[in-house]
Amino acid sequence: MSEIRVLDQKIANKIAAGEVVERPYNVVKELVENSLDAGADFIRVDIFDGGIGLVRVTDNGKGILPEDLKNSVLRYSTSKIGSIEDVYRINTFGFRGEALAAISSVSDFKIESKREGFEAYELTVEWGKIGELKPGCCQQGTIVTVKNLFENVPARRKFIKSFSAEQREIVKFLKVFSIINYNVDIEFYSDDKKILSFTKYDSMKDRFIECFGLKDVSYLVDKKDNIELECILTLPGVQRNRKDMIFVGLNNRVIKDFSVMQALIQGYYRKLPQNKYPAAVLSLKVKPEMVDVNVHPTKMNVKFFDDREIFSTVSRAVSNHLGSLKLNESKENYSYDISDDSIKYVVEEKRTVYSVNIDNLFETEEIQNESVNEFKIIGQIFDSVILVEIDSELYFIDQHIAHERVLYEKFISEAEKTSIKIKLVEPVVIEVLEEDKEIIIKNIKNFEKIGFDLEDFGGNFVSVLSVPTSIVHKNIENEFMELINEFHKNKNENLLDSLSITMACKTAIKAGEKLTDYEMKKVVSELFQTKNPFTCPHGRPIIYKMSKEEIFKKFHRL
Ligand code: ADP
Ligand code: MG
Repeated sequence: MSEIRVLDQKIANKIAAGEVVERPYNVVKELVENSLDAGADFIRVDIFDGGIGLVRVTDNGKGILPEDLKNSVLRYSTSKIGSIEDVYRINTFGFRGEALAAISSVSDFKIESKREGFEAYELTVEWGKIGELKPGCCQQGTIVTVKNLFENVPARRKFIKSFSAEQREIVKFLKVFSIINYNVDIEFYSDDKKILSFTKYDSMKDRFIECFGLKDVSYLVDKKDNIELECILTLPGVQRNRKDMIFVGLNNRVIKDFSVMQALIQGYYRKLPQNKYPAAVLSLKVKPEMVDVNVHPTKMNVKFFDDREIFSTVSRAVSNHLGSLKLNESKENYSYDISDDSIKYVVEEKRTVYSVNIDNLFETEEIQNESVNEFKIIGQIFDSVILVEIDSELYFIDQHIAHERVLYEKFISEAEKTSIKIKLVEPVVIEVLEEDKEIIIKNIKNFEKIGFDLEDFGGNFVSVLSVPTSIVHKNIENEFMELINEFHKNKNENLLDSLSITMACKTAIKAGEKLTDYEMKKVVSELFQTKNPFTCPHGRPIIYKMSKEEIFKKFHRL
């Protein structure tokens, strides 16, 4: 029985299209991730000439069935995904069967593989032209060799810097990858010279120290229902000027996520002076339904269903952990032996780094967690209504309005406490109409309460210093202007209320969106924690109920 299937067009289109490979580093990343997917606990990477000449990845994973070897290099061929639902339930790493197809069309490519109980086979693909399947001779596992990358696409070569720059990028990636996957043996050779060699089952901390030479670190592990977090954090004595040594892993893959990184930095609130950053590797594991990894061609960026939950879990865990280390915050003499000279060890007074009050933020979360009702999700109808059974009643819940209510109450309640917002690295300056400017400046406090910290920039400009976490991935100027337009329309006396309603409506799940079980459960349980789960801020009903009697009567059972 063949394991690899060619995805049908519908699914293929559903997945963001785009190029997978730009540089040798992308080849290495795709290939080692495939090895990991195949269950390998030994991965060896070889490169020549910065990976332009050759990239070879050897693993001891489960290997590919002989009959599947040809499929493996076809576009949209994958053994890891089968239906649209699967796109949202990816439990390995986000795959769309593009990598080998893309790589083998721009290189002199060979894949050799052996599955236990089968003979070894090999297949060559020369610049996209698939050759004949031939008997091979490798051990159990897979060897992929990629030679002369982009020789047939000269335009592509322009992305490639020097051999040494390419090698540096690969080394950096492999270090982070090996810290996140510290239970895998990883070896890296460049031009036949051994550059990295890590033995599995070292602790994450040992790997980190070995990779980055930073010894003053602490290991943090934390597990909530849906989010598992493992992390190596530098102690507050390590104060870097840049964020370039904060790395994030998601479900064993290296990703870039601005808000997770920001959450980690947030965890250092009051521990580091302003504009100083730690070094860290944070490895997150979440349920596949909680994240869409297919929003970016190289899967470097992901979309979390609930940014706020991830954000608060990460910053709380980091903050609690650093707090528990009993570091003397105001005066402490750090004298560490560290090789990276961009790191300075200074004694600093306590200073406020971010405007978020972490303690309040966490209090709110905890209270909510206690009051979860018992309910059973039946499913979703018309992609818009969630069916829930509670006691002897059937609830029809409008998903958009329900989520709107949840978000609205969050904005309002945070207004009384301190809102969750992210301080932007660079303020965004926005031009507004003269009459709007006046209203905005008069309401600066109200904007602050829903997460926007604003400043008068002079002229017809305002600068945005912080934004609510829910819009951090969006175009901030557009979001802000829409907000202004909305509250003109509403002309509500209570401006905070009007802003909160608008923000809630804009960021809530829409009708027509297919939801996963996890998403339904989350919205419903949050709805039941609100003060008024039955009507939305505009006064529309959220829930329509039918009792068991009513239903049974229809069948003349009563
Ligand atoms: P994807 O990883 O998205 O499924 P790829 O193009 O990277 O797509 O790989 C295609 C298929 O080839 C995979 O689904 C897998 O079945 C097989 N494959 C690729 N590399 C390996 C490997 N190192 N070990 C075992 N199987 C592999
Ligand atoms: Mg892959």
